[in-house]
Amino acid sequence: MKTVLNPGLNPVMDSGCMRAAELIQKGRFACACGRDHGANVKEVIIGRDALSALPGVLGRLGAARAYIVSDRNTERAAGGRVAAILDAAGFRLDRFVFDRGFVEPDEPAVGAAVLNMCGGPASEDPLAAGKTAVVAVGSGVINDICKILAHMTGAPFVTVATAPSMDGFCSSTSSVLRGGLKVSVGSRCPDAVVGDTEILCAAPENSILAGLGDMIAKYVALFEWKLGHIVTGEYYCELTVNLMREALEKVVSNAAGLKNREPEAIEAVMEGLVISGIAMDYAGISRPASGIEHYFSHIWDMRGVSFGTPVALHGIQCGIGTVLALEGYEKLFAQIAKMNGSKPDYERARRVHEVFDVHEHAKKIAARLGPGGEIIAEDLKNRRLYDRADTEERLRKIAANYELIKAEAEKTLPSAHRVADMLRDAGAPVRPSEIGLPDEEIPVDFVMTRDIRDKYILSSFAYDLGINIDFDI
Ligand SMILES: [Zn+2]
Ligand SMILES: [Zn+2]
Repeated sequence: MKTVLNPGLNPVMDSGCMRAAELIQKGRFACACGRDHGANVKEVIIGRDALSALPGVLGRLGAARAYIVSDRNTERAAGGRVAAILDAAGFRLDRFVFDRGFVEPDEPAVGAAVLNMCGGPASEDPLAAGKTAVVAVGSGVINDICKILAHMTGAPFVTVATAPSMDGFCSSTSSVLRGGLKVSVGSRCPDAVVGDTEILCAAPENSILAGLGDMIAKYVALFEWKLGHIVTGEYYCELTVNLMREALEKVVSNAAGLKNREPEAIEAVMEGLVISGIAMDYAGISRPASGIEHYFSHIWDMRGVSFGTPVALHGIQCGIGTVLALEGYEKLFAQIAKMNGSKPDYERARRVHEVFDVHEHAKKIAARLGPGGEIIAEDLKNRRLYDRADTEERLRKIAANYELIKAEAEKTLPSAHRVADMLRDAGAPVRPSEIGLPDEEIPVDFVMTRDIRDKYILSSFAYDLGINIDFDI
């Protein structure tokens, strides 16, 4: 494991990648949570002139040749410079540029990237002829495609980020369209991530705002991990939470600089997104990075695929989902405060559960979400959320820990108002209607968020408590 911070250039000690670098240098270690933690990414280089570190990065991975993948936009942003730098350093280059700006992560796109890597004369098989590194120039789809390519070929793999837009840089899964359905497939984390501040600062505004939204989401994700730990007894790691929270606070304290694309602000977002990937590696689950806000986004994505409703970038949707989640927690605790003795009414909750019809609910999900929803609906009766004995056990845990849960929310969740102001100041939307989705549908989608995955979140908590949250719509 080796981490290089702007090697031989200008190692600024407070540069954006210091924390990520420290984590990688730490290697594998035993944690107080009872598990061993380690990062899959071997190098993270974020900072001014980071691109010039590329030949060294590829060299350390044992590559003599590079297969550079980009699309028309990322080619303009960085592909040409990446190729020139590697060419000047003596690397043999194979290039594949998608001939359009927007690439769908579907079968033809993945197939084209594979065929162009392996499609030369047999005598020139790049994998047999020596180590070819896959170099992804891009942040979203291009990275997802190259992660699959690296997974299939076992080739060394470097991502050159062109935008600080989402936290999937270091994850080991790719989001793809298979048979028209959005699915997550196993792929591979890059060996190295390179983020040149000059390139990242020139990224489209929307993609920077998406990165901010994906980071702000961590407020909710981290609280809900704790909530799930308290109510269902699931695994939890304090160290991972603190690591993520530290990266999040750095993003928030620099957020005012995003509007003017100050390098420190952009670097904080990029580093936070990379650390999200490391935190998920540490935990072995997505808990440190996603909660109910991500499920709002998944629902809007599914409806987009099924019914052609408007869809915005993942992180933009997560930012809106975060404001909704924070508002939801505020309303939930306020509604409970008005109940008898300012405590949840568990008897009332039990009466709500008694009349809940899971089959009717499943039908509504299938109708609202389309084919993806049908798959969820089919599995609903097996969910622990709707098992009466499990529900009773959770209610018991909630009753014993209600004050603790409330105190944790007050301590770690910022106000919806504050987060909405921060996103607005940066130029990001904060309500569904601002991305073309009716605000009146918030309660309908909210109820379905609890069924997207088997994760305990605000909407599962509200279900257990038998409470309908009164969203402002
Ligand atoms: Zn741990
Ligand atoms: Zn995300």
